[in-house]
Amino acid sequence: MSQPFLLADEGQLMCPLCSGTYVHIDDVYVAGRPREDGPVVPVHVNAGGRIATEEGVDLPMTDYGRRHVISLGGVCELCGGRFALEFKQHKGQTLVTIRKPVWTEVDAPAG
Ligand SMILES: [Zn+2]
Repeated sequence: MSQPFLLADEGQLMCPLCSGTYVHIDDVYVAGRPREDGPVVPVHVNAGGRIATEEGVDLPMTDYGRRHVISLGGVCELCGGRFALEFKQHKGQTLVTIRKPVWTEVDAPAG
């Protein structure tokens, strides 16, 4: 599995959805692991400096491996798409994955 590196000629980050160069990285997500194979500690920091941990953090990654995963959340001005650039530690190497949000069905609240 190989994915293109997302840098334009002058070093601008390219949108993984449309290849446009007007993208913003606004969020950092960390699936932290104080120890290998231990419980995941979710952390989210937004561009405003707000930090959230544990409950209420909706991590974009679903596979944490045995160590930690760091993901940068972005949005594209051209196509409006949201994406995440994910870096997962795996056996001494860093695996890079690009993700986009997936809409899921929710149950209506009781009432
Ligand atoms: Zn785009």
